Amino acid sequence: MSAIDIEISEVGPRDGLQSISAIMPTAAKKAWITALAGAGIPEIEVGSFVPAKILPQLADTAELVSHARQIPGLTVAVLVPNLRGARDALAVGPHKMTIPLSVSETHSLKNLRRTHAQVLEEIAAIRGEIDALPAANRPKLEGSLSTAFGCTLEGVVPERKVLEMAEKLVAAGCDEVGLSDTTGFANPVQVRKYTREIWQLLGRDKLTGIHLHNTRGQGLANVMAALEVGLTTIDASMGGIGGCPFAPGASGNIVTEDLVFLLESQGLRTGVNFQRLFEARRVLAEALPTTELYGFTPLAGLPKDFVAATPQ
Ligand code: ZN
Repeated sequence: MSAIDIEISEVGPRDGLQSISAIMPTAAKKAWITALAGAGIPEIEVGSFVPAKILPQLADTAELVSHARQIPGLTVAVLVPNLRGARDALAVGPHKMTIPLSVSETHSLKNLRRTHAQVLEEIAAIRGEIDALPAANRPKLEGSLSTAFGCTLEGVVPERKVLEMAEKLVAAGCDEVGLSDTTGFANPVQVRKYTREIWQLLGRDKLTGIHLHNTRGQGLANVMAALEVGLTTIDASMGGIGGCPFAPGASGNIVTEDLVFLLESQGLRTGVNFQRLFEARRVLAEALPTTELYGFTPLAGLPKDFVAATPQ
């Protein structure tokens, strides 16, 4: 694999599929994951360890982890909502587990039915379980700061609260924290400011990635801010699926295909091959024929004489 400047973490199989009511067959998910990895996507969040009765769309996550683990070089990530989910995840061995903590406590209570203290307690217990494993089998544990840029319930989320929660996540045992614009409220100034302040507080190695939404059309502007400040991992979803889009024409999650174009066109290597990425989109489109896929680049095509930074 050629060197990579910016790592794209594809969250479509988790964030995307969890908000679509149609259940994508396991065989189709495997084919999609294989196609994404084949296109050069270095990290894929393949699912979430939530009870099947809450999210039947993601009931096959364990099988998908086992499948994805067989793809050489791919970082296999999963979401875990709590200790029980983390135990199920550890049984199949992902490389990375992300646990969300809503900086807005109202959101935390409504979504996970847990206070901040309860979530942090579970994270400390998860840390204990990870550390009980042989060093080679320990996944990276990331605490995701959900609603960091604003909350649909509480409105403004104070910046000091974001910093406080970042500090507590690391103290509870997270290897790293991630900034997450769950609600699509973020602006580029906030992205730069929050990143710098978390770095100042915890060190640069404790924050490398960001999860952005395009709910109000600011997704790629916020990516530019993330690049300028020096973040190196960007979450995105193929076809922009998921992330609860509210505005017609606007995707929820930022669109992987457009993100790859933004990065490659300014000389940043993603390791992704465009033709194979568009093929992976066809695999997704065929598996979800009634779901709208977003993204401009796949429709417009690459510009004439376009030269990507990654050798194609
Ligand atoms: Zn999202």
